[in-house]
Amino acid sequence: MSISLVHRPAAQSPHYPESTRDRMRSTATLVLGRLLLLPAFLRSPRRSRYVACQWALSLRFPRTSLTGLTPEARRQFTQAQTIAFWRDGQLIGLTSGHRDHAEQEAYFAQKVVETGSAAHARRYVLPAAESAHVAGTAFDVRPRAGAAWLEEYGAAHDLYRTYDNEWWHFEYRPEQQGRALPRLPHPGFSPAPGPGGS
Ligand SMILES: [Zn+2]
Repeated sequence: MSISLVHRPAAQSPHYPESTRDRMRSTATLVLGRLLLLPAFLRSPRRSRYVACQWALSLRFPRTSLTGLTPEARRQFTQAQTIAFWRDGQLIGLTSGHRDHAEQEAYFAQKVVETGSAAHARRYVLPAAESAHVAGTAFDVRPRAGAAWLEEYGAAHDLYRTYDNEWWHFEYRPEQQGRALPRLPHPGFSPAPGPGGS
């Protein structure tokens, strides 16, 4: 993977402008990444850009955790983060990656209470057995401009936005082999049977 060093300020997405404060934080994070290149090089000479990017992002988004993701999903996601950071000056923070079974079930149960039924809850949260977060192949990301970057370039890393109603949710789908993935309206969506269908 070869990535040229970024020489521009934090990319401003025309569609999802950041507040001045967030833009300053993004720029500071990019500057920090450059300052961390030398220590990262001393730690890991061949992966210094990757390491410096991960350090800088973990300071900007301290609750980010890659633990529990499958090795390949994690590798592709962090590679996308690195390219976004150095090539396009775009930060991609991870809000939620892997969730364990109990955590997802509790999340689903809470949604059932909020929405009044399991059928409604499924539009927002899936039960653990169906959740890509539990499988370790889903990523909820931020900010919105970072998600837009991943939506545009993620397919090169087998990462896809899967739902219309969740701009932040991406899944690792290697079976697509870079082809476009048709987006579903929401989690738990099942197409209505067509005329005469069963
Ligand atoms: Zn998600």
